[in-house]
Amino acid sequence: MGGSAKLYREQIADLRSGFRLDDDERFGARVAALARPLIEQAKREYPESAAWDWELHTTTDGDANAYAMAGGKMLVSRAYVDQLALTDAELAMLLAHEIMHAVLRHNLKEFGEALRLEPERAKQPFQEFEHDIDNDNALMRKLASFNQRQEMEADREGLMFAVRGGWRPQALAGYFRKLAKHSHYPNFERFDHPSPASRWQAARELAAQLEAGR
Ligand SMILES: [Zn+2]
Repeated sequence: MGGSAKLYREQIADLRSGFRLDDDERFGARVAALARPLIEQAKREYPESAAWDWELHTTTDGDANAYAMAGGKMLVSRAYVDQLALTDAELAMLLAHEIMHAVLRHNLKEFGEALRLEPERAKQPFQEFEHDIDNDNALMRKLASFNQRQEMEADREGLMFAVRGGWRPQALAGYFRKLAKHSHYPNFERFDHPSPASRWQAARELAAQLEAGR
C-alpha cells in the first residue's frame, strides 16, 4: 500500500520512459489473466468502483513491489513475484489484497485519520498534506498502528474476496507463508505493515476456518 495518485502517475511515466513499463509480455499476460476476473468481481461487489478507470501495469523494475491506489490503479513488479516464486493462487492473493485497499478506500481513511490526529492539517495545501502522509516521519509514526490495522483488513477481506472468486483458502494463504519465509525480519513490524509472521498466522487461521466451512 501507499503513495498518492500523483505518485502513481509519476512512477508509471518514469517506468515508461525507461522502457520498463509492461516490459515483459508473458508476465503482463499472466497478471492480467488473474486480475481481470478479480476486478470484475470488485465492480460487482463494490458498485461504486464500477465507474473507476481501473488500470493495471506490470514492470520488471526491481524497486517496485505491488500496490494499488485509490481509484483502482495497480502496479505489480515481476521481481517481487519471482523473488517469492508465487503460484497463481498466491499472486491472486496479492492482487486481492491490493484491490481491497482500493475498494475499502484505505487512502481516504488514512487522510481522515491524519486529520483526526492533527486537525490543523486541514489548513495545509492538499499536495503538501498528501506528501507528508508518506514522508513526514512524525506523522507516519502516529499513523502506523492505524495503517497496520488497514493492512490486516486488506489481508483478511482480500482472502475472503478471493475465496468468493473461486480460489482455495489454503492456496491463497500460501502467499503469507512465503512472505514470512522470505522476510529477513519476520517478526519485525515496519512503519505501516504488521510483521510478516503475524500476517501469516492470521491468514493461516482464517484459511483453516474457511476450509472447515467448505
Ligand atoms: Zn497492503
